[in-house]
Amino acid sequence: MIRFSVLASSSRGNATVISGGGTHVLVDTGISALRIRKGLAECGLHDSEISGVFFTHEHQDHVCGLGVLSKKRALNLYCSRYLAKDLRGMAPNGVFTYVEPGQAVQVGALSVTPFCVSHDAADPLGYVFECEGVRLGYVTDTGIIMREMPAMLAGVQGLYLESNYDPEMLENSGRTPDLIRRISGRWGHLSNGQACDFIRTIGHPGLQHLVLAHISPECNTPAKATAAMRATLDELRLPTQLHCARMAERLDWIELGITRVPKFEY
Ligand SMILES: [Zn+2]
Ligand SMILES: [Zn+2]
Repeated sequence: MIRFSVLASSSRGNATVISGGGTHVLVDTGISALRIRKGLAECGLHDSEISGVFFTHEHQDHVCGLGVLSKKRALNLYCSRYLAKDLRGMAPNGVFTYVEPGQAVQVGALSVTPFCVSHDAADPLGYVFECEGVRLGYVTDTGIIMREMPAMLAGVQGLYLESNYDPEMLENSGRTPDLIRRISGRWGHLSNGQACDFIRTIGHPGLQHLVLAHISPECNTPAKATAAMRATLDELRLPTQLHCARMAERLDWIELGITRVPKFEY
């Protein structure tokens, strides 16, 4: 079994705790250390119980809490080699493990496989977390769905998926044309429609839980993102439970178990 709780998520900050077989890891530390510790405590965990922290990329909304969080104790940090250059300054006592796309690393009971995403960062990654045959996909901060992603994420029981912006709200947000192009371009973020299209590609009856994440506070609303995905899940007749992660409140533990559904082939 795998379970996970999104401590916070939006364009302003992101952190998630994932547990499997008694091993607990964090993905990103993009909120204050205080909030991370508070969120972990609400989950019944202490930060000393965290076996590792996986990073997607170096943007502040994914790393900003690391400096304070790593002051008290040396953390095991998992990231790409390029990202480590940035993180070393924030966490001089961190114990770094470099990860490579397609190469699984084992942290206690969890096997974690990184994959490439498309974002304006040094070497951004998504992840698949696996424990005893149960898998959770983690896809955020990517302007497009990369060719390898459907195969990497085929058959996952849980998916954390960016649904960053509504194109009309982005267009009318008062942002500069350059910034609008950056957000909606291939190195930017997934729109609600792109997130739905991805579920049309990899959605399957064994997908138990889908969490919409990294919602832009100015260019999207949880209601818009959820309505678009709800319609897509209904259209596909999938029994998947839909959740929307928020910045201000923690999304409580979501549990994933084995499903006896044949793996889709792509
Ligand atoms: Zn981000
Ligand atoms: Zn980013």
